[in-house]
Amino acid sequence: MRIGILGAGALGLTAGYRFASVGHHVSIYERLEVVGGLAAGFRIGDTWLERFYHHLFRSDRDIVALIDQLGLGTRLEWLKPITAVLWEGRQHQLDDPLSVLRFPPLSLPERLRLAFVLAVLKLTPSAAPFESSTASVWLRRAMGDRVTDILWEPLLRAKFGEYHASVSMAWFWARIYCRTPRLGYLRGGFQLIYEELAERVRNNGGVINLGRDVRTVRVEGDGVAIVSNGVSEHFDKVLITAPTRAFARLAPELPPEWLRRYDWGDWLGAHCVILGLDRPLASSYWLNVNDPGYPFLALVDHANLVPAADYGGLHPVYLGNYLPMSSSRFAQSDESIIAEYSDAIRRINPAFDPSWIRQTWVFKAPYAQPVVTSEYRRHIPPHRTPLRNVFLANMFQVYPQDRGQNYSVRMANRVAAMMLAETG
Ligand SMILES: Cc1cc2nc3c(=O)[nH]c(=O)nc-3n(C[C@H](O)[C@H](O)[C@H](O)COP(=O)(O)OP(=O)(O)OC[C@H]3O[C@@H](n4cnc5c(N)ncnc54)[C@H](O)[C@@H]3O)c2cc1C
Repeated sequence: MRIGILGAGALGLTAGYRFASVGHHVSIYERLEVVGGLAAGFRIGDTWLERFYHHLFRSDRDIVALIDQLGLGTRLEWLKPITAVLWEGRQHQLDDPLSVLRFPPLSLPERLRLAFVLAVLKLTPSAAPFESSTASVWLRRAMGDRVTDILWEPLLRAKFGEYHASVSMAWFWARIYCRTPRLGYLRGGFQLIYEELAERVRNNGGVINLGRDVRTVRVEGDGVAIVSNGVSEHFDKVLITAPTRAFARLAPELPPEWLRRYDWGDWLGAHCVILGLDRPLASSYWLNVNDPGYPFLALVDHANLVPAADYGGLHPVYLGNYLPMSSSRFAQSDESIIAEYSDAIRRINPAFDPSWIRQTWVFKAPYAQPVVTSEYRRHIPPHRTPLRNVFLANMFQVYPQDRGQNYSVRMANRVAAMMLAETG
């Protein structure tokens, strides 16, 4: 069978590997010049660093199984770096039950209530009880005003901006239920997974077409045509891993009733500045910026997870944001962003001086974070589309968990098995 795949991220590459390893001919189309999608890295010396901060949780079993299968298991390290919250100008550790019970901005009764409700969420094995509630209303009722104002409202606002009040409690439950204080990192960079998958696809006769923007997908005879860079290629089956909205624009034959239900919802883009510093900046790996008035939502001092020696002594610090793609931040010059961010960093660490910056990078991506509302679930399309032999599997179908490499790998395994089962 000839299988065309749109997208060389975690999903497209894992599915491509599954098809190629049982003898099908795979052709993957990727508009970027690099594989890995949102999890892609760039080179610093001999190693890769992700364009956007990435780590795994203990519950990410599907990607851990893939890492082992690819022979990369010895590179996977589990660590317990510090996660902290910036509140009223001070940094407070908040990453395990003990730190919850000690969290200074809250009174003892507030801490006990927070710990109790978190324990209830951890012990609830399904999202079902939370499907119809919004996180902001549910959390305020269960945890009280101050806990919500100090911890959760800033988190929801930072991640979802103007949509913060409509985010589903099911999504919030999954964040608490699935996440662990131990974090996993693949020494050498997650890009190693994607390079290895691409290599295995190629070794099995497949093709990875980089820099190829797919413009049209249409049914043609018994198969499907993919049109990119003015060239049309024919396949028996096609798997789309681009966002549902992008698919809706590529496939003019999709029926109006499908579009009404599934070409739906909002999403945010990701904006990330990386500063390569010549010395450490923060005492935590991850600092959630819950104080208002900062131009970024988190400060991630990557060298508190992976030794700076891996990056030739450079301490990479991520300053991240989720924003509507129309935000002026995406058009702002790198120099003015870095000047603005430097002022903000000095408020977090008064010793910081811009002369510490050795290198800077700025990365931007559209369709980086779906807005998961209470209606979201009803609008998740099935993998089988109305177009014969065209399948859809993308991170916008991940629910209720927050999107992540693990869930793209899991979905790729599932949809590949489904497509293979159909061919007998
Ligand atoms: C800021 C940020 C932080 C994150 N942190 C983590 C983390 O800590 N841990 C974690 O596991 N995950 C994290 N994630 C999520 C993770 O990166 C994604 O869930 C995962 O990479 C999604 O893989 P995917 O293949 O499903 O989608 P994508 O990576 O989006 O891949 C889809 C691919 O399709 C391509 N494409 C789209 N349209 C076309 C077209 N018309 N023609 C050709 N190509 C096309 C795109 O260029 C892209 O490469 C983070 C994401 C962001 C943005």
